[in-house]
Amino acid sequence: MMTIFMDFPLGKFTLRMPQNAATDFHIAHEIDFLLQFCIYTKKRPMTDPFIESSWSQPDEPFETTLRPQSLQDFVGQDTIKHKLDVVIQAAKQRGEALGHCLLNGPPGLGKTTLAAIIAKTMGTKLIVTSGPVIEKAGDLAGILTNLNQGDVLFIDEIHRLNRAVEEYLYPAMEDFSLDLLIDSGPSARSVQVKLKPFTLVGATTRSGLLSSPMRSRFGLHLRLDYYSPEALQIILHRSSQILGISLSQEGALAIAKRARGTPRIANNLLRWVRDVAQIQNLTHIDHSLAHGALNKLEIDEKGLDEMDKKMLQLIIDHYNGGPVGINTLAAALSEEAHTLEEVYEPYLIMQGFLKRTPRGREVTGLSYTHLGHQVPVHLKNGESL
Ligand code: ADP
Repeated sequence: MMTIFMDFPLGKFTLRMPQNAATDFHIAHEIDFLLQFCIYTKKRPMTDPFIESSWSQPDEPFETTLRPQSLQDFVGQDTIKHKLDVVIQAAKQRGEALGHCLLNGPPGLGKTTLAAIIAKTMGTKLIVTSGPVIEKAGDLAGILTNLNQGDVLFIDEIHRLNRAVEEYLYPAMEDFSLDLLIDSGPSARSVQVKLKPFTLVGATTRSGLLSSPMRSRFGLHLRLDYYSPEALQIILHRSSQILGISLSQEGALAIAKRARGTPRIANNLLRWVRDVAQIQNLTHIDHSLAHGALNKLEIDEKGLDEMDKKMLQLIIDHYNGGPVGINTLAAALSEEAHTLEEVYEPYLIMQGFLKRTPRGREVTGLSYTHLGHQVPVHLKNGESL
């Protein structure tokens, strides 16, 4: 085996070739491949479908403006903020890239926002992509070789990363190197590409689906919880100031209570209420305005929307309260099973409306009373079917 070290503008490469391939022709061929690779990855704009990422699709303008820019502005999640503050300060003192972090929690709780805050506080760039978008090892190589020292690579839905790509990510995370295999059969060669130390921030809504080798490569595991109505009230006051509308404490609480513990929903509801205020020529949101506007959206006081209620009602009417499988529910509601699992169920379970059992989903007595039904006797006695 012959090893050649090369220093390209893009990074250091190590080329390993069988001894019998050591002819000028083979070396020229390999160097040509590497140059093509450099030009290819350097030239590719981030908007190319090759690394089509959520970053390339502009955020809704209101999300960008409402997104907190620092840990101080980030409301709630105190334990997470404290841990991040410690590791960021320590990494900055050492002049090193921050260790890899895994953020876990339902959509809209602030995972992307935290990744952006990490990059901003570290004074580095944020590159956003998502698991299903990185289809091939080449896609990943393109992203990784473009990273600079300390840059933050945010991979949303990291549990949906394809397994072959995941294997390439392991040495990149551990040793900041990428082992690329060129050709197949007897002429197969591996090319090692040295990467600049970077930080991977992985986000997942389903940490249970993450492979254990992947999970173990993250130094810091942070779990985001749903926000209390009080924390959402603070977020809403901050957002109302940015949006330029006055909001009373009671108005903020009315919105917060229907936001399913989720800042993104709280901000969306606020925008709706602001629009309702605007067409009535009002510049202040109080409790009655917020309450009336939210009733029009058919979101009830427990934060349940039309889909939540349809799902609970379906289980009661057609499956006698359950158990019923998630795929059956998805088909009956014309919705994706994973959307029900990731978006609707966690809140219904947390609020005690639904139970996940080995045989399927079951509603609780609370669902019956909330939807105006008599609670069946077996549920009153505390048993399930
Ligand atoms: P995720 O990536 O978990 O789906 P995001 O980070 O995109 O969620 O957050 C959605 C929106 O909610 C952001 O635009 C931001 O305005 C708001 N947000 C989330 N968490 C907070 C927080 N802790 N404080 C203030 N606003 C927040």
